[in-house]
Amino acid sequence: MHKKLFIPGPTEVIEDSLKAMGTPMVGHRMKEYATLHGNVTTKLKKLLHTDGMVFLGTCSSTGWMEGAVQNCVHKRCINFINGAFSKRWHEITLANNIEADKIEVEWGKPITAKIVEEALSTGKYDAVTFVHNETSTGVMSPIDEIATVIKKYPDVAFLVDSVSSMAGLDLNFKDLGIDVLLAGVQKAFGLPAGLAVCAVSDKAMERSRTAPHKGFYFDFVQFEKYDKKNNTPSTPCISQIYALDQKLESFFGETLEKRYARHLEMATYVRNWAKENFSMYPDEGYASVTLSTINNTKEMDIPKLNEFLAEKGAVIANGYGNLKGKTFRIAHMADCTIEDIKELISWIDEFRNQ
Ligand code: PLP
Repeated sequence: MHKKLFIPGPTEVIEDSLKAMGTPMVGHRMKEYATLHGNVTTKLKKLLHTDGMVFLGTCSSTGWMEGAVQNCVHKRCINFINGAFSKRWHEITLANNIEADKIEVEWGKPITAKIVEEALSTGKYDAVTFVHNETSTGVMSPIDEIATVIKKYPDVAFLVDSVSSMAGLDLNFKDLGIDVLLAGVQKAFGLPAGLAVCAVSDKAMERSRTAPHKGFYFDFVQFEKYDKKNNTPSTPCISQIYALDQKLESFFGETLEKRYARHLEMATYVRNWAKENFSMYPDEGYASVTLSTINNTKEMDIPKLNEFLAEKGAVIANGYGNLKGKTFRIAHMADCTIEDIKELISWIDEFRNQ
């Protein structure tokens, strides 16, 4: 039996998306692809509130994390770490021989505007990496407040991983002054993994033009050159781009307002249940809208819980890394509904009470 995915990615993929992926193949240098590419990027610009380019990468999110630092750091990067993926971005930066420092806070805590201000006031940095929604901890850091600080430093590029938040809540690329905003489509978009999108600002493009060692695959200048022709530098994952086109259309059909309200309603429901029966792992006020990380205060056996849920046709996620067993994670994003969440929670209650 198929297990419905309540894990924070890949998320459940609905039949319509699988069907869209079965659209007969076209060549990526054919006009049919150019039409598709133009449609998808136009819709992504609307989703993210940007007039700039949004690149389609045939890669997972890690690809664009690497591309972002390769293209945008000239001097020294500051990597803010509050979990596994923000830590990965620091490792990626160093692996590219880019000068970088890290500022690390305890897992479960957010990156705050104060922390960012302290780092930037040193004048040492020309780029910031920031993970909006740490999927390892379920912490959503206050991007609006951080953006306000970064705007005071026009020479700093603001590189944002919104891998598990994009399409789950409103992210305004232009208003937030973001330079690179990236996400894979296997989280809040609800599509299979393998396609990642990356919105870039003029500043990011300027940086890229003179970046000393930007590699080949993620060269923004090449992406820009091809995007102008509604194309990609190398062969893209065309089937997924078909599915993304249809998916974005469905977002606008639902309306973005309702989509984001649905995510918040699910998050609120899970948080209230968690607070009554367990406790939330993130600090108060910083819980993610797309996934909830819950302290396993009742010491449930999470693999056993998942065996129980498997019989119902569902699966949730254990805690990440050292948090395994101590926390568990419930994703509530993409096409998931409040009814799905209520049913899942009732099954977890049934397991606890048996
Ligand atoms: N950033 C965040 C916040 C993530 O949750 C993930 C994966 O779960 C990644 C980056 C890396 O994504 P991928 O493994 O798809 O490259």
